Amino acid sequence: MTASVAKLTFVLLAVGWYAIRFEHARRSRRVAVRRDSRDSRENALLLISLSGLGILPLLYVATAFPRFADYTFRPAQAWIGVLFAVAALLLFQMTHRALGRNWSVTLQLRQDHKLITSGIYRKIRHPMYTAFWLWAVAQACLLPNWFAGFAGLVGFGVLFIGRIGREERMMLETFGDDYREYMSKTYRIIPLIF
Ligand code: SAH
Repeated sequence: MTASVAKLTFVLLAVGWYAIRFEHARRSRRVAVRRDSRDSRENALLLISLSGLGILPLLYVATAFPRFADYTFRPAQAWIGVLFAVAALLLFQMTHRALGRNWSVTLQLRQDHKLITSGIYRKIRHPMYTAFWLWAVAQACLLPNWFAGFAGLVGFGVLFIGRIGREERMMLETFGDDYREYMSKTYRIIPLIF
């Protein structure tokens, strides 16, 4: 694999990633929102994450900016990136399917929102965020540039840290003991570790 092939692979897999998301977002527009905790802080976090995972890496692939941050390309590193990206895509698809009409891009609850605790949600509370972390690692492996490669880990990291506590509080306020019990039986993003 060459650096150009790695960049192209990143773009193609990213198209797959956005296709999964786009299809789901289109469908979820039909489901009414019952509670909306989206605020300017949430919007800022979403923008930071989108920059790190989308705008900056695509700018790099398109223009090679910032060239000074390039480092030597290693094919083995890129292949590891492909493995992470494929795992991320599969998990991303599974979590969208499992959440179904309960999914939102931000802190929202839908009409007749159901707490999902089975399937991929049985042992982990935030498998979709696990998919984002896997994707961010893939980006770092596939783009041999300190800035564009690591922007995803930083951008999503900021969203994750800024949102996870609020999301769990929102779920606790809504589902009470059901969510408390679910929390006691699950890990956040990595089974047995975190
Ligand atoms: N944090 C989850 C979901 C991300 S989507 C994950 O990483 O897999 C964010 C929205 O999903 C939240 O606004 C909330 O409304 C909803 N949500 C989160 N966990 C849920 C669950 N276990 N069951 C149903 N909806 C959930």
